[in-house]
Amino acid sequence: MRERLKRMPKAELHVHLDGSLRPETMLELAVEEGLTLPAAEPEALRRWMLVDDATNLEEYLARFDVTIALLQRPEAIERVAYEMIEDAAADGLRYLEIRYCPHLSTRQGLSMDEAVAAEWRGIQRGTQDFGIPARIINCSLRHYDPELSVAIAEHSVRMRDHGVVAFDLAGGEAGRPPELHREAFDLAARGGLGITVHAGEAAGWESIFEAIHSCRAVRIGHGTRLFENPALLEYVRDRRICIETNITSNLQTGVVRTAAEHPVRQYFDAGIPVTLCTDSWLMSGVVLTDEYLLAQQALAFTPSELEAMALTAFEHAFLPWPERVALRDRALADLASPS
Ligand SMILES: [Zn+2]
Repeated sequence: MRERLKRMPKAELHVHLDGSLRPETMLELAVEEGLTLPAAEPEALRRWMLVDDATNLEEYLARFDVTIALLQRPEAIERVAYEMIEDAAADGLRYLEIRYCPHLSTRQGLSMDEAVAAEWRGIQRGTQDFGIPARIINCSLRHYDPELSVAIAEHSVRMRDHGVVAFDLAGGEAGRPPELHREAFDLAARGGLGITVHAGEAAGWESIFEAIHSCRAVRIGHGTRLFENPALLEYVRDRRICIETNITSNLQTGVVRTAAEHPVRQYFDAGIPVTLCTDSWLMSGVVLTDEYLLAQQALAFTPSELEAMALTAFEHAFLPWPERVALRDRALADLASPS
């Protein structure tokens, strides 16, 4: 079954650059940076980075301090982005959107424009070598001053010709409503970017409501607590707002207790455009095929239901509509006649 799911054409709409480094690469980058990591061997480092003891979202996010320290030079950012395309190809992905907050790479003097330019170089080289197109989602973080979010939104619009297709708000949700960053979202939307917002992960349905109505979200990252408000659930279904679910990540942060209880099944059955994503290949210790396998095993998704979710991801990509249709139709053709 895993082999079959790996071959199934898939798109990844929710994965973080700083959550998806290869342990081997981290060790090499650490040498270049003169940094000492929590472990000196790839396997030990992989285990250390795997979040299996977090009790909340904030503890989960602490792991990212280690990876972000390694993403301060253009060469490092370019390499990590390139390797993500290679890893995506190996996992049967046909398209991916890589999200990252470029402000995190400015600690040693790099500008946000330089950081994104490096990310885009890595993606373009990867696309050339492995045939997988990818785009960039720029994130601001909830704990940032809203003024900084505005600056990130302006930079994101400016970098549209460097693969930036959307704007997102990530980071710890507790006590930080997305509405505070409304101006940044206005700027991004008026500048032609797609909007997705991390919401309803740690915070309740109210954060999803705000993400949609105050921040113009057309996709929601996680949306795990959407089920708490049936009227909002219907609104999301009727407006075709895509929910980017991350089952393993939700287990790690304690948002759901077991995979079998994850609301993705309920959302799918309700007719919501829902798709499976990983959040982080490193911290979650999964690739997209694993999430599809988990959904099949824990939530009884049938092969045709899994295919439907995979196609939904192509349809809700932040690409021009004709490109989405082309990716979806190619996937459909391959599903009809697997080679
Ligand atoms: Zn995320």
